[in-house]
Amino acid sequence: MLVIGSGPAGAAAAFFIPYLSEGRLSVLSLEKLDRNFAKYHRMCGEAVSRAAFDTLAPLEPHAVEFTIRRAVEHWPGDITIETEAQGYVLDRPRFLTHVMDMARKEGCHTEVGAAVEVGRDENGYMVRTRDGRRFGARFLVGADGWNSLVRRTFFPGGPRLLWAEQFVLAERSEEDAMHFFYDERYRGGYRWVFPHRSGSRVGFTRGADERPKCLERHGRPIPYAYGGTVMGNACLIGDAGGQANPITFGGIRIGMMAARMVAESLAKGDLADYARRWPRSPYASPVYIKAFETLQGMDNEELYRSVRPFRDGYGRMAGLRALLNGRRYLGLYRAYDLGAKWGW
Ligand SMILES: Cc1cc2nc3c(=O)[nH]c(=O)nc-3n(C[C@H](O)[C@H](O)[C@H](O)COP(=O)(O)OP(=O)(O)OC[C@H]3O[C@@H](n4cnc5c(N)ncnc54)[C@H](O)[C@@H]3O)c2cc1C
Repeated sequence: MLVIGSGPAGAAAAFFIPYLSEGRLSVLSLEKLDRNFAKYHRMCGEAVSRAAFDTLAPLEPHAVEFTIRRAVEHWPGDITIETEAQGYVLDRPRFLTHVMDMARKEGCHTEVGAAVEVGRDENGYMVRTRDGRRFGARFLVGADGWNSLVRRTFFPGGPRLLWAEQFVLAERSEEDAMHFFYDERYRGGYRWVFPHRSGSRVGFTRGADERPKCLERHGRPIPYAYGGTVMGNACLIGDAGGQANPITFGGIRIGMMAARMVAESLAKGDLADYARRWPRSPYASPVYIKAFETLQGMDNEELYRSVRPFRDGYGRMAGLRALLNGRRYLGLYRAYDLGAKWGW
């Protein structure tokens, strides 16, 4: 197996493929970044739910920087809703390094090099790196991020891109909370404020016309709404497959879960099983995309109307009030509910 990319999706594949096949399947992991690996992977909220690790066992939360206990939503009309949210802000580069160490213990071989060409040959797939090396394998796993070479070479079309910007600020934010600010200027998205080792990190969808005074600025697209999973013996996982969640903007757990599903399918000798199971999983539900499209068309007045039933919190009474609010927002409520459980 050749896995291109060792971000969350690729690192999980590098670990789970030998682990779940009990060493029967050997893996070569190819990652283009060496010195800049940490810089690239810090461009992220680095938030992962506690529930993610129930589904990713035996991987455990590692390099935890903050333990999250609350999510605080701020809506137009001065509505503030606080809920319990158990999770972590990780030091993502250190977490990934740890997962790759576990992968190497399972027998994974690692190489640093940028894939510049992928193609078919008599043995399956071949990959050529910028410095002229060639690697071959029977199966190819594209975990090479939003601009995936594997996707562009073997799969039709591409995902939609949601451009996100993030700023690291010196001002501290609450260390156990994630804050979300909803407003029409975020065009279906929101502004997030998470704790950061240097103070806080603030992010939002590009175009919101905000430039906080910052220590660092990051920007990268979040790819979503793409159905390609398997083509021949090649497959896509994580951002390469446009699998990020457009409601939560989460992609770490999702890419790692796709990797796990690929590993389970390969261990059974049936990669097509991943293509069948992934679209039916709660990570890939079409409700997220529909809800995001609805949100993109909503102004502050409508955002307020949609959330008004929950102004005192998300209890049973609020649920009944929401039903009385009409069917209009039911898809949205369902996406929020699923997103909170599976989307980070
Ligand atoms: C601002 C922002 C904040 C976010 N916050 C969160 C968050 O808090 N929680 C969350 O769950 N998600 C978050 N996300 C989404 C998350 O970062 C991505 O969904 C996740 O990184 C996807 O992982 P991946 O492994 O698929 O891709 P990537 O993390 O992009 O990793 C791809 C890897 O492939 C390598 N690669 C690429 N091309 C090649 C090549 N040709 N040859 C060899 N190697 C290659 C890259 O160097 C990289 O290491 C955020 C995204 C953004 C933009």
